Amino acid sequence: MIRINDILEKISAYHPAAGLDVVERAYVYSAQVHAGQVRLSGEPYLMHPLEVANILADMKLDAVSVAAGLLHDVLEDTRATPKDLQELFSAEILGVVSGVTKLSTMPTSTSQERQAENIRKMFLAMASDIRVILIKLADRLHNMRTLRFHSPERRKAIAQETLDIYAPIAARLGIYWIKTELEENAFKYIEPEAYAQIENLVAKSRAERERYIASVKETIRARLEQAGLGGEVLGRSKNYFSIYTKMKEQNLSFDQVYDLTAFRIILETVSQCYEALGLIHSMWKPIDYKFKDYIGRPKPNMYQSLHTTVIGPVGERIEIQIRTVEMDRVAKSGIAAHWSYKEGSRIDENISQRFAWIQDLVENQESFRDPGEFLENVRIDLFPEEVYVFTPKGEIRALPRGATPVDFAYLIHTEVGHKCVGAKVNGQMVSLPYQLQTGDIVEVVTAKNHTPSKDWLKFVKTIKARSKIRQWIKSQEKERSISLGREILEKTFRKEKLNFTLLSKSEKMKEVVEQLGVKTLEDLIANVGYGKLTPLQVLRPFTAREAAEDGFQQSLIEKLMSRVRKKKPQAGVFVKGVEDILIKFGKCCQPVPGDAIIGYITQGYGVTVHRASCVNALRTNPERQIAVEWNTASNDTYPVKIQILSYDRVGLLSDIVGSISKSGANILSASSETKENKMVESYFTINVGDKAHLERILSHVRRVKQVQDARRVG
Ligand code: MN
Repeated sequence: MIRINDILEKISAYHPAAGLDVVERAYVYSAQVHAGQVRLSGEPYLMHPLEVANILADMKLDAVSVAAGLLHDVLEDTRATPKDLQELFSAEILGVVSGVTKLSTMPTSTSQERQAENIRKMFLAMASDIRVILIKLADRLHNMRTLRFHSPERRKAIAQETLDIYAPIAARLGIYWIKTELEENAFKYIEPEAYAQIENLVAKSRAERERYIASVKETIRARLEQAGLGGEVLGRSKNYFSIYTKMKEQNLSFDQVYDLTAFRIILETVSQCYEALGLIHSMWKPIDYKFKDYIGRPKPNMYQSLHTTVIGPVGERIEIQIRTVEMDRVAKSGIAAHWSYKEGSRIDENISQRFAWIQDLVENQESFRDPGEFLENVRIDLFPEEVYVFTPKGEIRALPRGATPVDFAYLIHTEVGHKCVGAKVNGQMVSLPYQLQTGDIVEVVTAKNHTPSKDWLKFVKTIKARSKIRQWIKSQEKERSISLGREILEKTFRKEKLNFTLLSKSEKMKEVVEQLGVKTLEDLIANVGYGKLTPLQVLRPFTAREAAEDGFQQSLIEKLMSRVRKKKPQAGVFVKGVEDILIKFGKCCQPVPGDAIIGYITQGYGVTVHRASCVNALRTNPERQIAVEWNTASNDTYPVKIQILSYDRVGLLSDIVGSISKSGANILSASSETKENKMVESYFTINVGDKAHLERILSHVRRVKQVQDARRVG
């Protein structure tokens, strides 16, 4: 049974200058207000705050933390008021104790993984002071140690909550000893059979295991000593919960997991750590991918160590951690190591820099402006960009800071958002632009025929709300355009003594829809309403007698093709020093004026002209090559093949053909193919005057709607 004197002695041991007075007064006050209360165990209630204070002293926390630990339940369970604490102690103590009280009123049971993460975040976000979390963890630790006094159902629920919320928070803060103890205790109550089984298996092999651990420890120790390193070697078996999770998650047998024994080497300096690592790797073969250098790259919570796994003396796997004394201290107590007193001095100098790791807790968030300021105020705001609020059922929802009841409503459901007329926050009606605060309980008030307002866009913060409101406004606009478009079309058709409503069901109308490049009749009508299409465009096909739509594209190509002139051979190229020579152009590379060219003497056929970059030209015998140049005075045109990539649509081909002929080129041949991914690949051979002309044509074609690329082939 712990006594207050033990705790006071503990504190003076690690912090001789601590003002113990506040701890003593807190003890007396706590005893007074808790007087007569008993725990389920039958012990006086005071035992609980005493044990909690003792755990905090074990963590070497400051006197205020220990005092607040003694007082942590007084606001919730006794007649003590905030005013009492403020007057009898201090605003600081009141702040910490009310922080703890606030957290205990937070509903935290959940069955969902995602929800658990939200609760953990909210938990951290709601604590205004890091000591609130540390006290909460100590409180939970003592409650877990005494869980057996609860009913079986309560035990399970509390154990599950511990596993879901508290153990991960302890891990995140780097306080691994608390994490482990919480997990071991929770495991015992959640899976009593599995726990007993593992306990039994461990017990059976214990003697053998201990001999083995002792021999490996001795081997390592001797090798370190030989190298003049010294240091401490520790060996441990895994705890039950981690054996169990490994077996379950990786589907391993007990032997396979239990084989994995962990050893720890603790040395004075960082260089000794690396030296020791070298020694270990020279003794036993390392498993390469298992090596982790957390000294070079510390974990976000400042954990530092070298981790390696090697094949040990009897072919088994051994995990070895190597670190300095200081690293070991941090590894054991995590954030508390930075918080505790060290050798009587108040918190070491480097803390402000070390607290940089908290940034990493603040997932995806911006960094602190000033870590020093943070430390001075002992406040944490781990998730400055988010607020956590409750649904009336007690579920937590995360929202960006500044979010409003409208954002919350859309988060629940789009329809709830659309019909939202107001909201109650903590039972009070609030205006829609109200900014939600962490801890708010939000209830949306809806009305059946209510619709979203454009004004909401001025204050909503979430992407979901914004886009849903916009979508709704757009759909409203479309509806208006449809009725307007329909009216215009009916009038236009009526003038021609046609009935639009009747014709809109005809096959012909389907064709018109397709030709105009819209998806549905409704889109067509809406487009007329928006003014994107004219009513005459829709009307024309119904009035024109000759509208042979089929083959329209085909006939256009044919028409263009027929315009191709048969050209007579003409010298567009000079061959240096030679006149009147037969000139041919390479089919492989289709040179056009402006291209760098080279001639190649073909026996009996004169000179073939290739582009200088043509692969075939490069392959020719250098002795047969001859310099040639373009005759700029020639009006000849030259065939060149181009490739066009585009997305399919109605009228695409005729637009491309139109664009080419408008640029003053003739089309010699055309082919086109639709690919699986809706892309159309077309090839045209066209006649161009020169390279600049070709470039002009290509750039015109690229401007055709839906064309992705147009380029010369080869
Ligand atoms: Mn408590």
